[in-house]
Amino acid sequence: MAEVLVYVDHVDGAVRKPTLELLTLARRLGEPVAVALGNGAADTAATLAEHGAVKVLTHDAPEYAEYLVVPKVDALQAAHEQVSPAAVLVPSSAEGKEIAARLALRIGSGIITDAVDLQAGAEGPVATQSVFAASYTTKSRVSKGTPVITVKPNSAAVEAAPAAGAVESLNVTFSEQATGTKITGRTPRESTGRPELTEAAIVVSGGRGVNGAENFSIIEALADSLGAAVGASRAAVDAGWYPHTNQVGQTGKSVSPQLYIANGISGAIQHRAGMQTSKTIVAVNKDPEAPIFDLVDYGVVGDLFEVVPQLTEEIKTR
Ligand code: FAD
Repeated sequence: MAEVLVYVDHVDGAVRKPTLELLTLARRLGEPVAVALGNGAADTAATLAEHGAVKVLTHDAPEYAEYLVVPKVDALQAAHEQVSPAAVLVPSSAEGKEIAARLALRIGSGIITDAVDLQAGAEGPVATQSVFAASYTTKSRVSKGTPVITVKPNSAAVEAAPAAGAVESLNVTFSEQATGTKITGRTPRESTGRPELTEAAIVVSGGRGVNGAENFSIIEALADSLGAAVGASRAAVDAGWYPHTNQVGQTGKSVSPQLYIANGISGAIQHRAGMQTSKTIVAVNKDPEAPIFDLVDYGVVGDLFEVVPQLTEEIKTR
């Protein structure tokens, strides 16, 4: 059976959810071989094996923490040479997309970014993408080299599928470019205790209808009752009510949660571009003609200041 390389996104050995989703998709294409790099790489093996990795290639070196992405590209290229995989899957984070693009260039392959689904095909993996501000869904496949595909978070379910997960260390020789750009400092963002926006299973967003920074506490309370991340429309961000890191849309982040709740958001095309692939969409808007109602699964026509607190209270009782 063909092997499929899966790049592991982890923090000191704790595997992030998008990687486990990649393992689900990789199993449709062949046998997943995970590549874990940096501090704690070997500690990822048990989790990866529980989710279907037949092999875990690991390598730790200070370069992974001290320099930007090139050392990781060197390692993934080494893994590609060692395994000759049928495809390389990488999570669609900003870093993941840079790694994937550099790798594709190095190995002379085509690349597909931001896939939302993957299926095995007679001529290689077929990726589904949501394009043109989510107006179209396309299916495509790489026609040159080993397909390199980045996949958006929440594109597949995390499934337990125990496998051998044999740990092997990867032989990596860093290229000259690897140490070209050194990281000079890191400033950790203050934690809100909420899940990361792009990885959250539920996102609760607020728009201009929230009418003020102080009123975002209503949105946050609903989010907290559901264990959700908080998003915002550009109108709310531009007004200074919520940070740009939480903006959803064309010039913000792209989310694809199981549930997206839009509150006081009209549904402009640029906002839809960032949330239209959500599995279930709910909107609360006092205007029955708001375009957001064209794409929702459930819509509530009403004042968010009445509806959202009631919803929060109801959820808390369950
Ligand atoms: P509005 O369009 O003003 O809608 C507010 C809604 O709230 C209305 O439907 C109203 O009925 C409802 N409302 C008001 N009061 C209440 C209440 N009390 N209860 C319930 N409902 C209420 N936008 C993004 O979001 N993300 C992007 O990344 C983005 N990128 C852009 C890029 C470009 C190049 C451009 C040109 C625009 C971009 N925009 C983006 C802006 C986008 O076009 C819209 O202007 C923006 O999404 C509108 O935000 P909104 O829905 O919060 O505000």
